Amino acid sequence: MRFILSSSKFLNSSNHFIPLSSSSTPKFSPFIAATMSTVSNTHNDVTTTQIKHHPLQVAKRLEKFKTTIFTQMSMLAAKHGAINLGQGFPNFDGPDFVKEAAIQAIRDGKNQYARGYGVPDLNNAIAERFKKDTGLVVDPEKEITVTSGCTEAIAATILGLINPGDEVILFAPFYDSYEATLSMAGAKVKSITLRPPDFAAPIEELKSAISKNTRAIMINTPHNPTGKMFTREELNFIASLCIENDVLVFSDEVYDKLAFDVEHISPASLPGMFERTVTMNSLGKTFSLTGWKIGWAIAPPHLTWGVRQAHSYLTFATSTPMQSATAAALRAPDSYFVELKRDYMAKRAILVEGLEAVGFKVFPSNGTYFVVVDHTPFGHENDVAFCEYLIKEVGVVAIPTSVFYLNPEDGKNLVRFTFCKDEGTLRAAVERLKEKLRK
Ligand code: GLN
Repeated sequence: MRFILSSSKFLNSSNHFIPLSSSSTPKFSPFIAATMSTVSNTHNDVTTTQIKHHPLQVAKRLEKFKTTIFTQMSMLAAKHGAINLGQGFPNFDGPDFVKEAAIQAIRDGKNQYARGYGVPDLNNAIAERFKKDTGLVVDPEKEITVTSGCTEAIAATILGLINPGDEVILFAPFYDSYEATLSMAGAKVKSITLRPPDFAAPIEELKSAISKNTRAIMINTPHNPTGKMFTREELNFIASLCIENDVLVFSDEVYDKLAFDVEHISPASLPGMFERTVTMNSLGKTFSLTGWKIGWAIAPPHLTWGVRQAHSYLTFATSTPMQSATAAALRAPDSYFVELKRDYMAKRAILVEGLEAVGFKVFPSNGTYFVVVDHTPFGHENDVAFCEYLIKEVGVVAIPTSVFYLNPEDGKNLVRFTFCKDEGTLRAAVERLKEKLRK
């Protein structure tokens, strides 16, 4: 049984905070609610409508999960008119040359099913990009699968390569879809906690967590939510453990172009690792087009087989014109990536300075568009209580991190803010914090 934060509260379908039920499924307790449907009976020309209550239904593999924290927090932001520094989506648009490429593709009639594993031009563009970024030469036909966002790449990788009972190791805090998708695959999840201030990988703990049933380690670098970037030393150590124990690496690198202070290293580029690594990435973060949902998985042919089998029956193929436009995006000149990084570093500076000025303990964010802080100087019981206060009394939304741990207690002091917003929004949020946040 998992630990329960005594005052943890989550939201029901009407967006109200409700207390977590005390026992069975603490982290993601299904809320006690019922859907309603109307049943009409016509009798002697008189129609009566009864309201029938149906308990919510969900398969066991998903019953401990609930509405994602990102959805909950964005709904609350809208409800309370709070500035949304919660869910990570830019409030500015993606580049015109990519949008124009999508419009052109639609006009050119690129509107029927795409080839299942990706339109050829995009597979080629992904291979070119990967070579530029990592030095690795991959076969666009045999080693790249285009998916509906990185979330589908993660799902196809897990469902295509993990058997029920296999152990998979996650670094906590971890992105919410990892655990839910592993649950759908019937995997056993083990987690190793990255702890502040530097969120260094506890290598000895990792070593003792590996067993003969360990099938894969999930890595996310740059890391959401902490902004940590795995160092070469950490990755070399993880690589040697994987090679020694015949373990795969599933590597989510969607923030690789937002590596600010430290070099991004793809685990697949380490000696002996390409053959046991699935590298996943997407368009959304790099091109501020999170709604397009174009992602991909790069893996050697023997692993690509499993990924493609799952992908074929999950979504079969993804949006044809958006894939064409993604090929154009990935061929952007180097200056695009330089400017993106420079803009995000300016945004990070505004938010980090503001958060420090109001009294948070701010942990360094070396990559991603997130920063994690310790909220305890403000005296709230836990991260959920603090975020509730922040939305209602201050008018700013952050993400409580306890939902990203197997043991929510590990995250109760930490909340995540995003800086993927225009500078005016970031400054307005800092102003609200300065005016209204009380110790
Ligand atoms: N990746 C985004 C974040 O971490 C959220 C995506 C989502 O809402 N599922 O904020």
